[in-house]
Amino acid sequence: METRKKVVIAGAGIGGLSAGIYALRAGFQAEIYEKNPVAGGECMGWNRQGYHIDNCIHWLTGTDPSTKLWQVWNSLGAIDENTEYADEDKFYTSILEGKQVTLWYDLDRTREELIAAAPDDEEEIRKFITHVEYAKCCVIPTDKPLDMMGVMDYIRMGKEMVDMPKVMKEYGKISCRQLAERFRTPVMQKLICDYLPPEYTAYSLLVSYATMASGNGSIPLKGSLAMTLRIVKKFRDMGGVLHTGTGVRRILIEGRRAAGLELEDGTVVRADEVISAVDTDHLFGKLISRDYMPKALRRAYEDRRAYPVTSGFQIACAMDADFSGTGTIGFDCEPISMGSRSFDRMTVKSYAYDTSFAPEGRAVLQANVVQTDEDYLFWESLDEEEYWKTKEKLAAELIRRIVRQFPELDGKLKLLDCWTPLTYNRYCNAYHGSYMGFVTTVGTKQMRFKGVVKGVDNLFVAGQWVMSPGGLPIAAASGKFAVQRILKRDKRSIEI
Ligand SMILES: Cc1cc2nc3c(=O)[nH]c(=O)nc-3n(C[C@H](O)[C@H](O)[C@H](O)COP(=O)(O)OP(=O)(O)OC[C@H]3O[C@@H](n4cnc5c(N)ncnc54)[C@H](O)[C@@H]3O)c2cc1C
Repeated sequence: METRKKVVIAGAGIGGLSAGIYALRAGFQAEIYEKNPVAGGECMGWNRQGYHIDNCIHWLTGTDPSTKLWQVWNSLGAIDENTEYADEDKFYTSILEGKQVTLWYDLDRTREELIAAAPDDEEEIRKFITHVEYAKCCVIPTDKPLDMMGVMDYIRMGKEMVDMPKVMKEYGKISCRQLAERFRTPVMQKLICDYLPPEYTAYSLLVSYATMASGNGSIPLKGSLAMTLRIVKKFRDMGGVLHTGTGVRRILIEGRRAAGLELEDGTVVRADEVISAVDTDHLFGKLISRDYMPKALRRAYEDRRAYPVTSGFQIACAMDADFSGTGTIGFDCEPISMGSRSFDRMTVKSYAYDTSFAPEGRAVLQANVVQTDEDYLFWESLDEEEYWKTKEKLAAELIRRIVRQFPELDGKLKLLDCWTPLTYNRYCNAYHGSYMGFVTTVGTKQMRFKGVVKGVDNLFVAGQWVMSPGGLPIAAASGKFAVQRILKRDKRSIEI
């Protein structure tokens, strides 16, 4: 007779898998229920016509073995000392009117090249690079949830992140768009806004770049799905049970307790503790009543201007060229309309860095047009036929623009697949198709909530939505935190 407490988890994205592994580490039984046939959620990749489309990791924060986040990834089986990473040397490149500028991992090289390309902006460039250097100290707390940290923890974190106040003072209260306006040279303005959406706070750009420049944000070879499958293997090897193709219809609430899960086929699974690791819009509304939604989260969902979300209209092409060394490039293009908005700039990314994604001498090229809440509503408003026609038409339009920018690719691109914000919603129940959490805009409070549900003592929330801006590290840490909350409530040690 099994006497260990049983934890059931809804959703096998990185948040759910992390919760499962940490539950096992804490000595619980763990069972995960995932609606899709494959675990991973948004940390995903798929095959088309002999190519692999990798659709998540642009950089994995926590690849420096000296960091605590590395230990989390290592505990999950995601990476270890022998993991091989893509041999990349830059974040991205921006092109405008024949000028090209790049954010290299080597900050000295970036500084010199940017100053040469934009001498009028020398002072601003020097300041930017100095602060990227400062931002290298930024860490994502993974020991325990912020609200469980004591004075000593905060002192330690303050010491670790000693230079972050300088970054926040200079770049914490402006958006990427406002930062771009500080530069006079047009290609520099494009560089600042080519990667993250312009309304993102500028410090996010510096921290992202610093993560890569410090060697703590690399891309594990073989891609996102392979990493997910390593985590699944770890979970199963430790004795966890993963049910795929098994959607959760409801979380059963009895008084102040979550009694377990009701599955889509009507089966009831009873448990001692329940962790939801699905999108929070789906949790609060579909799996339990929206009345349980914490205030901070409700505020964010209700204020679509202050807390936007981002998704993408994306295409993947087979490329009969390896285009290696290209990385990610932003460039101006002939305006293209999507719903009520029009774009005159786009980015493409070559996946030539990973030879396992394509037959020899070839590679996958992807383009991603960032999509917002209103774009989601546009896609949702189309009937099925219009939706497919619009997708096809826009994919062809993007390919035409790529070829205009890179004539050497003429006749060498073949569309493999294209997908929209609706795809993320269908596949992951993602709110407005968002594959990250809420964007923190200038002047708004960062969205974060404790991952507990008021009025239900044994229901916990994991997944990227517990803290902006989301992403893989937040998802991974949130799974650990959910289990630590169970342990703390049970007055057990939270060291797991
Ligand atoms: C194109 C793209 C690029 C990205 N780039 C990066 C990057 O470079 N670095 C980075 O850190 N992050 C990146 N991300 C973000 C990252 O993928 C996500 O932050 C992370 O995977 C979210 O994990 P999660 O577990 O919180 O949510 P999800 O992955 O959404 O997992 C939730 C799971 O719950 C399942 N589910 C939903 N409803 C039910 C139900 N009723 N019953 C059962 N199961 C259910 C879903 O199918 C899904 O598997 C990227 C994402 C995309 C799409």
